[in-house]
Amino acid sequence: MSGTILKSPEEIEIMDQANRIIRGVLADLRRMIAPGMTTLEIDRFAEDRIRAAGGEPAFKGYPAPGGGVEFPATVCASVNDEVVHGIPSPGVVLRDGDIVSVDLGVLWRGYYGDAAETYPVGSVSGEAEELLRVTREALHRGLEQARSGRRVSDIGHAVQTHVEAHRFSVIRDFVGHGIGSHLHEEPQIPNFGPPGRGARLTEGLVLAIEPMVAAGGPDVTVSESDGWTARTRDGSLAAHFELSVAVTADGPRVLGGPRDA
Ligand code: MG
Repeated sequence: MSGTILKSPEEIEIMDQANRIIRGVLADLRRMIAPGMTTLEIDRFAEDRIRAAGGEPAFKGYPAPGGGVEFPATVCASVNDEVVHGIPSPGVVLRDGDIVSVDLGVLWRGYYGDAAETYPVGSVSGEAEELLRVTREALHRGLEQARSGRRVSDIGHAVQTHVEAHRFSVIRDFVGHGIGSHLHEEPQIPNFGPPGRGARLTEGLVLAIEPMVAAGGPDVTVSESDGWTARTRDGSLAAHFELSVAVTADGPRVLGGPRDA
């Protein structure tokens, strides 16, 4: 595959450690997130934990795609109709019935880890519960395709098929990606498309697979005021789950621990 960077088993071990830090924070947040918490509190907790573990936040200072303001925080915290890239704020107080996605990247010994999870806040609607379940399942369908000999679009096809079987929409504007000593490497991994297209997956490739799913239509708009926050155009709920996975001789190896831990 041209443009992709294959990792040695030793590099994959370091990336496993990077993702272990992130997965620990995401698991703690699963127990902590409750009505009344602000998204800035989530950010402070995540940054403290990453630095205490010896890592560095990977998103802080990340350049904006359009050359705008750098991302100012450790996590992206995206509430309800926000799809991705929400900026943590003391003014965003989580309420009972909200959903909030937390996306977190870390730099550890020269390599990046990247994972995200969407949490229910208190008691959520049946639709929100189903959206979270289907998006998580879609991620797992995608991870299953991370095998030597498959093609890049097999991942997106598996994600899209599962999401649309539940009458939800896959967001097209943002994609998964290769990951390693750069946060974003080749190949890009759309969450939609026909199977059997694109580059062939090979052992040593590490991918961040990240379905973003809307309960309504797939169109998004990016906030003009902050240059980052992406929302569904129709105001419907959106969810986002992400894990990093290595293509190995033994099949997909989800980095940072068991996939549901
Ligand atoms: Mg990512």
